[in-house]
Amino acid sequence: MATTTTNRFIELAEKHSAHNYHPLPVVIERGEGCWVWDPEGRKYLDMLAAYSAVNQGHCHPKILAAMKEQAARCTLTSRAFHNDQLGPACELLSEMSGYDKVLLMNSGAEAVETAIKLARKWGYTKKGVAKDQAEIIVCAENFHGRTTTIVGFSTEQAYRENFGPFSPGFKVVPYGDAGALERAIGPNTVAFLVEPIQGEAGIIIPPDGYLKRAEEICRANNVLLIVDEIQSGLGRTGKLFCHEWERVKPDAMIVGKALSGGFYPVSAVLANDDLMLVIQPNEHGSTFGGNPLACAVARSALEVIRDEKLVENSQAMGEYLLKRLEEVPRDHVEEIRGRGLWIAIQMKTSSGPARPYCEALMERGILAKETHEQVVRIAPPLVITKDEIDWALPHLIEVLAEKRG
Ligand SMILES: *Cc1c(COP(=O)(O)O)cnc(C)c1O
Repeated sequence: MATTTTNRFIELAEKHSAHNYHPLPVVIERGEGCWVWDPEGRKYLDMLAAYSAVNQGHCHPKILAAMKEQAARCTLTSRAFHNDQLGPACELLSEMSGYDKVLLMNSGAEAVETAIKLARKWGYTKKGVAKDQAEIIVCAENFHGRTTTIVGFSTEQAYRENFGPFSPGFKVVPYGDAGALERAIGPNTVAFLVEPIQGEAGIIIPPDGYLKRAEEICRANNVLLIVDEIQSGLGRTGKLFCHEWERVKPDAMIVGKALSGGFYPVSAVLANDDLMLVIQPNEHGSTFGGNPLACAVARSALEVIRDEKLVENSQAMGEYLLKRLEEVPRDHVEEIRGRGLWIAIQMKTSSGPARPYCEALMERGILAKETHEQVVRIAPPLVITKDEIDWALPHLIEVLAEKRG
């Protein structure tokens, strides 16, 4: 490799950073809106948006201002004391989501862990499940994060192999199959944890009515419906929350990623009082969870989604992009599917893995990342304009038309 600044940074990371990722060979130095720049000044259209954490676009000026202002005032109080940012942030999230209460954490995985604890405690104290017998049903091909408990109920070999022993109390059913859920429920089932659309699995959209049917089954069996909207929520699918597509009201919802517009790790579990208040003081917590800096950032990130109509833009631009992608020749493309600005381009297995297509897109100034071998995921920041999509389309069409790798 020539000794460019880009190569120097890649080599440095290879040498000193753990090798737990396999990034595309691009170094991002700066970002603004949908665009990022490398050290050589090359410009790229970001069509991953940090796995939907930067739905508001890179370095959104309003969120940046809120963060700067709060950072200069007070960053961390711990929850040993009240702070003046927690209440207003929770109020806004509660108003926008329709849930009574918000429990703030940091990473998505932590919020999933929180929801698991909440569901189990509800099971023991409200449903009357015998001590340590609570069971949570999850789906095959799920992605809920990387803690040991969570990877313990993953079905992805790479996520779990050699990381055991794992925590018991989880049962796996096929995704999209309401009958399988119904059959799996037993007297000790406390919750069904599900992604409304499976993101990491390759943007897998379940059959119409699946979530609605799951809700009915959960209600009929006194089982909590918990949706993981960490990636699907906050506008990604053209609704504020993806479960709105099926007009369901989950008992609890988990959000993260875009809750901070990518500035800072902020996640949350949302539920109504009857569920959330089963957790009492001292029973759960986090030093950084609900800190004033996180709250100021989250409040601003939510205001941007609301005030800039990013949900509406996601729906309109997503529909437009999906329609225009019909022009992609099908020689190497198996299927194109999506909802809002969350689109999967599934390559034929005979046409090789998705990675070389992502590398070819990178050469043309478009950053997308493969998921699960065969899928090119298209998920730009929700601030993307029609002009920006029109710029990207010919590149997408040409790159996907030719066999790569
Ligand atoms: C990203 C993601 C998580 C984990 O979030 P982290 O912040 O990486 O811990 C959990 N669930 C879903 C659906 C996700 O996309």
